[in-house]
Amino acid sequence: MAQGTVHVDENGAVPEIDISIINEKSVAVTIFRLDPNTFKEELVAELGPGEERKLILWVTDCLLAKVGAEVVGEFGVCEDLLEWRLPNGDPENGFHCRFVVENHRTESVELFCTAGEDGETLLIQVLDPGAQTVLDSFSGDYWEAMIDDRLVSAYQPSARLPVWEIDNVVCDFVPKLDPIHNENLNETSEPRRIDQPAVGAVKAVMVFVDFSDVPGTASPVEVRQCVVSESPEWFRRESYGRLRFSVDTPVLEWRRMPHAATAYEKIGSDGAEHASYITTALQLFTAEEIDFEQYQIAYIVAAETPNDPPYIGVLALSPTLSAGIPIVTNHGVVHHAVTFGRDSYHRGFRVLVHETGHLFGLPDLYRFHPDPTGEWLTPAGVWDIMCDLDHSWHFIGWHKYKLGWLDESQLIYFSSGELSVRLTTLESAQGIKMIVLPSEHSSQLYIVEIAQPLGDDEPFRDKGLLIYAVDASVATGHEPVSVLRCGSGSEESTVGLRCNDFVAPGESHIVRLPSGDRVEVFNRERHGADFEVTVVSTSAAEPSAKEPTPCGICQDAAAHSIWVRAT
Ligand SMILES: [Zn+2]
Repeated sequence: MAQGTVHVDENGAVPEIDISIINEKSVAVTIFRLDPNTFKEELVAELGPGEERKLILWVTDCLLAKVGAEVVGEFGVCEDLLEWRLPNGDPENGFHCRFVVENHRTESVELFCTAGEDGETLLIQVLDPGAQTVLDSFSGDYWEAMIDDRLVSAYQPSARLPVWEIDNVVCDFVPKLDPIHNENLNETSEPRRIDQPAVGAVKAVMVFVDFSDVPGTASPVEVRQCVVSESPEWFRRESYGRLRFSVDTPVLEWRRMPHAATAYEKIGSDGAEHASYITTALQLFTAEEIDFEQYQIAYIVAAETPNDPPYIGVLALSPTLSAGIPIVTNHGVVHHAVTFGRDSYHRGFRVLVHETGHLFGLPDLYRFHPDPTGEWLTPAGVWDIMCDLDHSWHFIGWHKYKLGWLDESQLIYFSSGELSVRLTTLESAQGIKMIVLPSEHSSQLYIVEIAQPLGDDEPFRDKGLLIYAVDASVATGHEPVSVLRCGSGSEESTVGLRCNDFVAPGESHIVRLPSGDRVEVFNRERHGADFEVTVVSTSAAEPSAKEPTPCGICQDAAAHSIWVRAT
């Protein structure tokens, strides 16, 4: 296929390319570019009905087409896509997306498309060996490449990965993890109906309550700054611009609860008391003051209780009321709420991010009961805010996928043979982020991804690969994610627990499955923030279901509780 005019900047860095955008719609569309660093949307063009426009864009840019606030198309700039047509009509399965298919195999492949989850599967094209083509699809469609009824590759249209390369490796879609009996917060990638979706606009309202024995003395403006802090920007960056999270504070004053603070001691351990506390607090606001219908989340901040008797356990932590339990207010019903306690005054934005993570369906990765050495954070250490609220900087890649911030095509599900791929840093929106390996259990997968930077500290950037297991059948707080021990094992307490558990360039790690299969993960080479990775698998066993192991301490209580603790 002919390539377009490619401009290379003076430093020979990222090339630019001419793209034609054609608006075939009967309405005007607005084109935005997603800034690759801040993930903010930058307006680049407005096209009237039938209008065509040429733009010079960076290769690897992501473009969005919107009609009003609604996304109607996404486009990933690459050297093989010179034209972006926005067809007329309303798509049924997501927005419009154009992509390139390259057949690198020595056999012809048949390309099938399934429209949406339940659509009919249609043969679209036969692609000769070495050939490439450009196809149009909707973001919710599933594409499969077959050779003689054998699936060889799977793809879901994505502007983050606009080229579908069909290689000599068999790569399927990532299987849905079976939660078995674990219907509480879990690691399945399927969102639960009761969870708050983590994409699009999510608006929260924050209110402040105090007590006759603990009056609110701090300025609510300063308390808001302390609790919310940089979280809206964090959610924007971490979601690659897909979550637009905001917190409103329409009433910036303390409202007095009817009882002393000590009367609310049990809200951290009793779901009914917690729901009652939330109801009482939200009903302190009149229908004229706050229309709760406008918000998806309510945050209630309590005046800071002293860390002395009798207040040590009173409103000390910040529990989340998950499971979408309805709370009736004077104006609207709230389904997602967090009550902030003393810890939110001292631990920064991560308390809000962690608790809101629960509202989005993420489980706790720290242990509810310490390990034999007395440590709580052993499963995932500093690698996820759902584990370590004090040192972590990110959510692991699997959580970003679970929340809809990464596309399925950015994960390679690889079950046997040998695969070599360049993984791209989780700091950028584009590229392949994870290799997903099967386990012997249908509830479990192994993930290989680039270890994310720990803060701005240079020694903890671009270090290597993280390998971890996710298990949807394991209850929150009982190690649903286990980071494999593959680093030096030495700890740096200022950075966080397990911060050295990565596979450095030139090193490899063998994952041994209980079935006897083994998978070798080899970190071949670093390129800037990206890594060349080879995975060799001898795994061939069909995954089977397993019975979840109840916790020896709380039995299955954790799996059925509706509230989740902050720490
Ligand atoms: Zn938690």
